[in-house]
Amino acid sequence: MNKIKINENGIIDLHTHSTLSDGRLSFKELIMSAKKNCYSAIGLTDHVYYYNYKEISQKIIEFVHENQNKYNDIVLIPGVEITFATPKQIETITKYVRSIGTKLILVHGEASFEETPAGTNDAAIDSCVDVLAHPSYITDEQAKRAFKNNVSFELSARSCYCYANPQIVETALKHGANIIINSDGHFEDTLLTKEKVLDTAQNASLTNEQFACLKTNTINLVERLLSR
Ligand SMILES: [Zn+2]
Ligand SMILES: [Zn+2]
Repeated sequence: MNKIKINENGIIDLHTHSTLSDGRLSFKELIMSAKKNCYSAIGLTDHVYYYNYKEISQKIIEFVHENQNKYNDIVLIPGVEITFATPKQIETITKYVRSIGTKLILVHGEASFEETPAGTNDAAIDSCVDVLAHPSYITDEQAKRAFKNNVSFELSARSCYCYANPQIVETALKHGANIIINSDGHFEDTLLTKEKVLDTAQNASLTNEQFACLKTNTINLVERLLSR
């Protein structure tokens, strides 16, 4: 699967939700909406919790195996978003889902208005997940370790999470850590468009040069994920 070449002019979004967790669209509807918005790659990253991670991760992998060949212009990436798990559970879930073929592992980061377990951001970085989603403010130490462990920080396009984006950009880039823009979309209107990507970049205070780098690095990241 996934022998398709990624269209570099399309949108890459590595964080979306379907009806398998709290999204409003089925996988097929989600992909149809993504194609309408000119996506070239989409991460299917429903929430997984400690009580259901085996079942959900398996369903996502099966969907991609059975359906990728129906789409020749959008790459489907089987993922998960590990949510409200303790640091120890994050490590356990990461090892398991990677072993069965999940290509993209996100962790639901620590936002100030949610009861995410303390230490979630550190655990995500130490477990070498692929993306720390909406981490809120990050420290220099975390950015250094993320660089070393190949963990990308998400700049969320969601209004509830984007407050920290300028701080994430500044801290991550100071230490060479990777940043990516994701929708965290739960329904059609919240998926990325070219305008929304640009807005998110501008609101995060990215320079044109940094934005160009982000786009190249995101393509490289997808290629790395798919080569697993
Ligand atoms: Zn999340
Ligand atoms: Zn999410």
